[in-house]
Amino acid sequence: MTRVRSIRDVAEQHLCAGCGVCAYLAPDRIRMVDDLERGRRPIVDGADGESGDAFEACPGHQLSQGPMPPGAVRELFGEWGPVLEVWEGYASDPELRHAASSGGAASALALAAIEAQGFHGLLHIRARADHRWLNETVLSTTPDEILAATGSRYAPASPCDGLARIEEAPAPCVFIGKPCDVAATRKARVLRPRLDEKLGATIAIFCAGAPSTAATLELMRETGVEDPAELASLRYRGLGWPGHWRAERTDGHVEPLTYAESWGKLQASRPWRCYVCPDHTGEFADIAVGDPWYREVEEGDEGRSLVLVRTERGRELVRAAMASGHIHLERREPSVLPAAQPNLERTRGAIWGRILVTRLLGAAAPRYRGIAMFPSWWKRLNLREKLGSLLGTAKRTFKKQLRVRRPVRAWSDSADS
Ligand SMILES: Cc1cc2nc3c(=O)[nH]c(=O)nc-3n(C[C@H](O)[C@H](O)[C@H](O)COP(=O)(O)OP(=O)(O)OC[C@H]3O[C@@H](n4cnc5c(N)ncnc54)[C@H](O)[C@@H]3O)c2cc1C
Ligand code: SF4
Ligand code: SF4
Repeated sequence: MTRVRSIRDVAEQHLCAGCGVCAYLAPDRIRMVDDLERGRRPIVDGADGESGDAFEACPGHQLSQGPMPPGAVRELFGEWGPVLEVWEGYASDPELRHAASSGGAASALALAAIEAQGFHGLLHIRARADHRWLNETVLSTTPDEILAATGSRYAPASPCDGLARIEEAPAPCVFIGKPCDVAATRKARVLRPRLDEKLGATIAIFCAGAPSTAATLELMRETGVEDPAELASLRYRGLGWPGHWRAERTDGHVEPLTYAESWGKLQASRPWRCYVCPDHTGEFADIAVGDPWYREVEEGDEGRSLVLVRTERGRELVRAAMASGHIHLERREPSVLPAAQPNLERTRGAIWGRILVTRLLGAAAPRYRGIAMFPSWWKRLNLREKLGSLLGTAKRTFKKQLRVRRPVRAWSDSADS
């Protein structure tokens, strides 16, 4: 069987999630670059390929979930991880709610922590000013900076490459990222006491997969932006719920696509690690936020967020944000979560089959402990889907050449982190 012993192995053997935590932990030997076909990826200097702390914290090849914490909802734990409370609502600031991806809960909770709870800032990502089709990690400290970074970007981003900025901050900070990014911070804080001290809270956004930059460039071309240098702004959604894909040219030309149309075109480019990702809802975060898709989107709806409280720290943060008036939330029954994300529930089952087959065929596969997948495969998938998770994966293993190492290819203007 293929062994994965270093960060270079993770990156070259299709297991990298692109979080950037390896570059934070080994900055002298690892830098993150934009590989247009795959995502944000590490380039590693040195013969051993990096097998120390960076490899230990890497969520790409290994994740472990602990036992059910006290107070967690028993019926959700097996398939959704620890959930203490389920809420639904939106940012109280109408501008933030409108600009945001769902109801602006992620931004509003972070803003509340900064404005009312003594936090210094928020580490997260936003579009790069020089190439708006790429993303960069920033530490935002003002409402305007947080507003400017709202909206989900269905493209590679590596927020963990900026964790040193949290370590160096004068007071605790909030971190927002995808579930894999948050899982990486959870592992890194065990290795870096200064990070542990300053990482005040983590918020995960639900994630079904991060499409490649090449797919963004292709969709820009299809919607009238032939030359990336002519891109004035790029929105994947937001500005209403769920909002539109809007690639605006410098001359003001825009050909919007609905959220469903753009996701339909982008999703096929997700890297292999997303196909074997067991955590799409931020199981390692203090708070996780997503879309309440169980309800029909009404004409003119300004957006709503589903908010999962996953830890006691998360519970405090949510209570304090409601008390300071930054967010409006109503309590929901736990059953709302599976009703809101039925696709993610089935995906967890399919992963069991996918990992089994890739392993049998000799490709590298991630190791997950304490994350049950077989029960979902058995209960949630019909016969066709079960077979698909096995036979479809066998086909993909060859089509995507998962048994072949593929070196990281840096886009030439890529900014080093
Ligand atoms: C790749 C991807 C896949 C998604 N898949 C799902 C899904 O399956 N189900 C679902 O319900 N929702 C999904 N979403 C949407 C997202 O989880 C929700 O919109 C969430 O509710 C956040 O909304 P909000 O209004 O609270 O966020 P906002 O207040 O708008 O804030 C968004 C925050 O997310 C950060 N961010 C944006 N893009 C990225 C990125 N690529 N990587 C790391 N951080 C980022 C921003 O920096 C900002 O801080 C996905 C988003 C992305 C980026
Ligand atoms: S998943 Fe994260 S830590 Fe692992 S190789 Fe990729 S960028 Fe580095
Ligand atoms: S699907 Fe999983 S691995 Fe892929 S970007 Fe989302 S959280 Fe990370």
